[in-house]
Amino acid sequence: MFNDTFSQGQEQKPPVSESLPDLCHKCGRCCKSATTFHSYKELQRRVELGEEGAMEFLRVFQPFPSIEAARKAVPEQVDQVIRVLEREDRLVWDDLTFYHCRYVTEEGLCGIYEERPSFCKQFPVHGWGVIPPGCGFEGWQYSQRETQQAQVRKLKELQFQMEMLSPDGIHMPTRNMTLDELRASIADVMEPWVRFGAENW
Ligand code: SF4
Ligand code: SF4
Repeated sequence: MFNDTFSQGQEQKPPVSESLPDLCHKCGRCCKSATTFHSYKELQRRVELGEEGAMEFLRVFQPFPSIEAARKAVPEQVDQVIRVLEREDRLVWDDLTFYHCRYVTEEGLCGIYEERPSFCKQFPVHGWGVIPPGCGFEGWQYSQRETQQAQVRKLKELQFQMEMLSPDGIHMPTRNMTLDELRASIADVMEPWVRFGAENW
């Protein structure tokens, strides 16, 4: 589990998918290998400030004593998260902590299923959430990414057509907006996904 529900500074958060299909095969690996963009110290500071997301996270998750200890539990996810952070140029070793849930059972089941936090219910949130390899949501994430990319590509195609048909950018056939307004609306749609490469879709 990579929790970014309370992670970003100025960045816009990707929207949470409204309904998730039941694809979990209950291996429990996401519950044994969580991390966040913040250091453990920062999370504790946020808890002291009463920040709900941080409080909810530390209510269920406790830190592994070291990255090696986390790697023993779920090596494939620990290595994958490190690769993603490196690729996004966000890896700060001193700030990186992995967590395991207090409530996951030996068999990988949730011991507080009915009362589990909202971020557990929303996991993996969107097509780019970092999930353990072989997670039941891999196919779902693929189709989410395809849908999101297709939406942006369609808008970019429309922009291209409008640029061709309306060089002054004002009198756009069939659209009740100027070219600048269309560009702004494309930028809005892309914004949550820029971190995942939306500008090149
Ligand atoms: S890693 Fe995927 S399949 Fe395994 S428990 Fe988590 S959501 Fe379910
Ligand atoms: S509360 Fe349940 S679903 Fe959430 S991380 Fe813990 S075991 Fe997993």
